[in-house]
Parts: sequence; structure tokens; C-alpha cells
Amino acid sequence: KHLWKLYEPSMVDRRARDGVLADALEDALHAGELQVLYQPLVDLAAGRPVGAEALVRWRHRQLGPVSPVEFIPVAERTGVITALGLWVLEEACRQVRAWQLRSPGSGIYASVNISPRQLQEPTLVADVLAVLARTGLAATDLVLEITESAIVDEHAAVPALALLRTHGVRIAVDDFGTGYSSLQYLTRLPVDVLKIDRSFVSQLDSTPAGAAVVEAVIRLSQVLGLRTVAEGIETPAQAAELQLLGCTHGQGYLFARPMPAGDLDALMSTAAVR
Ligand code: C2E
Ligand code: CA
Ligand code: CA
Ligand code: CA
Repeated sequence: KHLWKLYEPSMVDRRARDGVLADALEDALHAGELQVLYQPLVDLAAGRPVGAEALVRWRHRQLGPVSPVEFIPVAERTGVITALGLWVLEEACRQVRAWQLRSPGSGIYASVNISPRQLQEPTLVADVLAVLARTGLAATDLVLEITESAIVDEHAAVPALALLRTHGVRIAVDDFGTGYSSLQYLTRLPVDVLKIDRSFVSQLDSTPAGAAVVEAVIRLSQVLGLRTVAEGIETPAQAAELQLLGCTHGQGYLFARPMPAGDLDALMSTAAVR
């Protein structure tokens, strides 16, 4: 009885919008309103692309572009993420395979975001292996990006990730450092790559603490034998500092924004040969 609820107009708007998005999302997938963009993952020393992260986009007929930051959580809630995520995975694997075939020997790999709900799917491993078989992409050319918060149910997620890894699929911890129990997960999760969150990279050249955190993550990664990828690199100074600290890979607007595959054909043909 002492509970007050305050409804701001914006909260009502948000709920209404979420409802609209939830209803429209499943149709959007089938109506071709979704698109996968690709952002190159770069070898910082060689200055060449080694992979591409798939980032989904949605242009709603009435609302215009909707950010994945807004619609991925909606897709999670409604369960559409399972179909949507598999669609992104298949698009990305097919595209990266096409880039490989155009540049024989190319070491380009696909990096695909996997949401928490997808990790709970009992069919995840079979689905991923089926996509690889259909697209012809080698398992070793696929990285699955998961966030620390995704490991809601370790008992389901860890064996699935471990099994995928025995097939050669690599696992990246996305947005590393932003979760609340990062370090603990590292000892239990089968992991190959740490992606340093943009929030740390952006503080690199502005605060001593920012640099210290980045350096500590890179050292940790080295000790554990993992690859470090820094996200959100926007300036040459950040790229230089990261390299100085021992970070080998990165992505960010400095190199390229997420783009339609066709706009990356030329760049991808310059990929390092494996
Ligand atoms: P994320 O996985 O951390 O992806 C990196 C985000 O940073 C992307 O935003 C990218 O466009 C942006 N970014 C890259 N370089 C820079 C930079 O230099 N500066 C700045 N300011 N931003 C940069 P985007 O594409 O809006 O995606 C946002 C988030 O949505 C992603 O964060 C990811 O969590 C989620 N997401 C996107 N596509 C998918 C998907 O297919 N499946 C799932 N489950 N989540 C996705
Ligand atoms: Ca990611
Ligand atoms: Ca990230
Ligand atoms: Ca991030």
C-alpha cells in the first residue's frame, strides 16, 4: 500500500514502442527488413583485416532505423532472437566464405554475436554445425562473441561452448570488463579471445586509470594465452597506445565503420594470407 508507481509519458511511450517492435520484429525478419553489416577486425601491427564482426541492422517501414541496442533486448524477450540470431549467423558465414573464395588462402574469419537466450537453446551446437556445413565455412573460421552476462545458466552454456570448441569454433568474451564477475568466469569458461570494451579504450588517452585497466586486461589475456581485441578504436593515438601495451587486434571507426558487405570487398581482398 506504500508502493508508488510513477508513469512518465516517456515510459508509456517506451512500452508502446517496445510492443510495436515486438510485433513487427518477426515479420521484419521474413520481409527482408533486416540487414547484416560487417566491421573489419584488424591486425594492429600489419594494419590488415583478419576478420569481420557481423552487426545486424533494422529499418522499420514507419519508424525508420532501429538500433540493435533497442531491438535485440526485445527479440530476447519475445524469443525471436533464436531465429534472428541464426539468420545473422548464416548470413555472416556465407559472406565470409564468399570473401575467402575470392581471395584464396585468405585468413578472414567471421565473428558473430550470440545472445544469452541463444546460449540456452538445447539445439545451439547442432544449429551452428549445420550452418557451417551449409555455408562451407570452416569451424576454425568462426568466432562466437558472448557477453559475460550471457552465462545465466552455466550448466547449459559451458558444455555447449566446450563442445563447439572441440569442433574448432572459437569463443570470445565480448565487452570484457563491464560484467560484474569477469575474472571468475575466465577460470570456468572455455575462451579464446577477450574483447576489451569500448568504454575502456575511449579512456585510454584521457585518464591514467583507463590506461591501467586496459594494460591489466592485456596482461591477463597474455598470461591466459588468449587473443586480445580492442573495440571502439577511433584515433591513431589509441591504436598506437594499445599496440605499445601489447594488444594485437582491434576494430573501430579508425579502420572502418560497420558497412554493407559489398563496400568491404576491396578491403577484404587485402586480408593477411594464412
Ligand atoms: P557490440 O557487440 O559491443 O558491437 C560493437 C558496437 O560498437 C557496434 O554497435 C559498433 O557499430 C560500435 N562501434 C564499433 N566501432 C566503434 C567506434 O570506433 N566508435 C563507436 N562509438 N562505436 C563503435 P551496434 O552495431 O549499434 O551494435 C550494438 C550492440 O548490439 C552490439 O554491441 C551487440 O551487443 C548488439 N548486436 C548487434 N548485432 C547483433 C546480433 O546480430 N546479435 C546479437 N545478439 N547482438 C547484436
Ligand atoms: Ca560484439
Ligand atoms: Ca563488444
Ligand atoms: Ca561494447
